[in-house]
Amino acid sequence: MSLHLIEECKGAGRIGIGGHVRPDGDCVGACLGLWQYLRKCFPQAKVQVFLEKPADIFHEIKGFGEICSDFPDEEPFDVFFVLDSTVDRLGAGEKYAKAAAKTINIDHHISNQGSCQLNVIRPDVGSTCEVLYDLMDLDKLDQDLAMAIYVGMIHDTGVFQYSNTTPATLEKGARLIGYGFDFPRLIQETFYQKTYVQAQIMGRTLMESIRFLDGNCIVSSIDRKTMEFYHAEPKDLEGIVNQLRNIEGIECAIFMYETKVLEYRVSLRSGEKINVADVAAYFGGGGHARAAGCTLSGTFHDCVNNLSLHIEKQLKKWEAEHDTRDNDDF
Ligand code: AMP
Ligand code: MN
Ligand code: MN
Repeated sequence: MSLHLIEECKGAGRIGIGGHVRPDGDCVGACLGLWQYLRKCFPQAKVQVFLEKPADIFHEIKGFGEICSDFPDEEPFDVFFVLDSTVDRLGAGEKYAKAAAKTINIDHHISNQGSCQLNVIRPDVGSTCEVLYDLMDLDKLDQDLAMAIYVGMIHDTGVFQYSNTTPATLEKGARLIGYGFDFPRLIQETFYQKTYVQAQIMGRTLMESIRFLDGNCIVSSIDRKTMEFYHAEPKDLEGIVNQLRNIEGIECAIFMYETKVLEYRVSLRSGEKINVADVAAYFGGGGHARAAGCTLSGTFHDCVNNLSLHIEKQLKKWEAEHDTRDNDDF
């Protein structure tokens, strides 16, 4: 389904915007991009963004300082947008979506069945920012808005590298950089650059990684004690799973960090042989075919064993369907 953003917000005095817990670049870019857009279209309305505190690397996006991360009690919103998420992944912001007169979900997760009254869910599109771009009146684009949308696009497509990048994605990216923001610096500072501590943790997790399933799979984890030692937060662990996935021969990479005793937050990345959205969905999580996440209970080994069963099943299925041996008349 498509919708007209301006029509849907006509007459609204108070508009809220929320995104998923542990917001990533797509989530932050989409929330601030929509915030800028609606403020431009409805200068008399009160528009607010509610997000868990995002990483400081996103501070240059216009509106970053206006993000509300303490989730105070508010009168019900006339319209509440749920971006890059389902209502149940909004964390403390869930209450706003539940109370709002009208709710609108804009997302691209294949695991999202539509969690609001109005839903624009496009799993074929690489980022929520790209979905949002398609819904916007492009006359309203300016340099700040272009930058916000661009951040989301680069983060979810791995700077236009992953298979969720389409010709249309690149055309939109081309139009956006035409607004003249410093995109090389933005890519470097929000996507590639790591703090020294982040680099140390990354090095350590790579060194301690273990391959299994005949070298098709790799896993590494970090426990709470080690995170405390480095004063690391979950947002400092971004990018580790992609680095594991970059290793030759790896079809599925798993990175886990301990959230509390016997509980791990799991990130999964894969190539074409494994659909990690299905693996994550089995354990109550979700995501995309090549990038997904979930939370698991148990020891490190329990978690790996549980995931391994599902990954192995998919690997075997793929191998059976792509049997490359020559079966003809021998
Ligand atoms: P992550 O490994 O946390 O970077 O997540 C990879 C992708 O899966 C991102 O697009 C996330 O938004 C998505 N994802 C992670 N966890 C969940 C979940 N529990 N439900 C739905 N999508 C998720
Ligand atoms: Mn996201
Ligand atoms: Mn996204």
